[in-house]
Amino acid sequence: ERIISAGLREEDADIESSLRPRKLSEYIGQDKVKETIGIFIKAALQRGEPLDHVLLFGPPGLGKTTLANIISNEMGVNIRTTAGPAIERPGDLAAILTNLQQGDVLFIDEVHRLSRTVEEILYPAMEDFALDIIIGKGPGARSIRLDLPRFTLIGATTRAGLMTSPLRDRFGVISRLDYYRPADLVVIITRSARILGVPINSDGAGEIARRSRGTPRIANRLLKRVRDYAQVKADGVINREVAVEALEFFEVDPLGLDQADRRVLTAVITKFGGGPVGLETIAAATGEEAGTIEDVYEPYLLQLGLLARTQRGRVATPAAYHHLGLERPEEKQL
Ligand code: ADP
Repeated sequence: ERIISAGLREEDADIESSLRPRKLSEYIGQDKVKETIGIFIKAALQRGEPLDHVLLFGPPGLGKTTLANIISNEMGVNIRTTAGPAIERPGDLAAILTNLQQGDVLFIDEVHRLSRTVEEILYPAMEDFALDIIIGKGPGARSIRLDLPRFTLIGATTRAGLMTSPLRDRFGVISRLDYYRPADLVVIITRSARILGVPINSDGAGEIARRSRGTPRIANRLLKRVRDYAQVKADGVINREVAVEALEFFEVDPLGLDQADRRVLTAVITKFGGGPVGLETIAAATGEEAGTIEDVYEPYLLQLGLLARTQRGRVATPAAYHHLGLERPEEKQL
């Protein structure tokens, strides 16, 4: 279990709900997305119509669930939350859909993981607000169409590429969330600290922000850990010195890498001369699964420019050598 994993962990549960912004104006960063969604909400409210279906995509922990809740809140409607893998059979989805009220938001997290048969129920539901039900079996079977209330589907996915195009095409609004800038994370951390009653100065917030991998969920989690450290090892106030000390103690380095990230990067450099090296080979050398490296470690390393993807495999960049304090072979020869 990594302290810097972006997925929801048990330890986050208690603070996540209290720290979650409720209004669009409290949602920090993601300016383009916020503006787009704000316009759609306003237009729908002015017309007195439900909002068009919205697809939110981007890495975990960036605020997709938060945004879905904000949208329902701003529209003044109820939200029903579920996830792709939880809807096993078409009947499960039919039950959810027929219980919605006019204008309600149905939020489906991991929408790319819906099964094919469930997806097919969703198409007419999204497009015509209709549910096609087959009654009977064999030659006597017939299909009847039930009207559904006009609802808004908000889908969230970390992997837009894994979605089928018929599903993707049925969303009227598609917004992509990106990693947050450190300056935005500072605002988020400062706000969270205020809510939690933790004394922090801007340098302390800046230090946590830099190590939070552009991800609010990680920022809030690190804040919580640093708070505990500050309480026990210092006077409870989070300044730069305390934040650095605490994060070093938790083995989160100045770029937000942990031991596991550094192990992957170090393997590419010391075992394979910096690459290019294939994913499977890195996996074998580090004892991780190739899929885990690709989905969990690599995106952030690519994002930081420490690792590059080439046709012949992964390559450690000069920045990676620099970050790990290792000498590059070319430099040695000079
Ligand atoms: P996702 O659904 O993308 O995995 P969440 O919406 O659950 O992410 O966000 C994780 C946590 O990060 C939330 O509990 C919330 O406190 C915080 N958060 C996310 N986005 C923002 C934001 N724009 N401003 C402030 N806090 C945010």
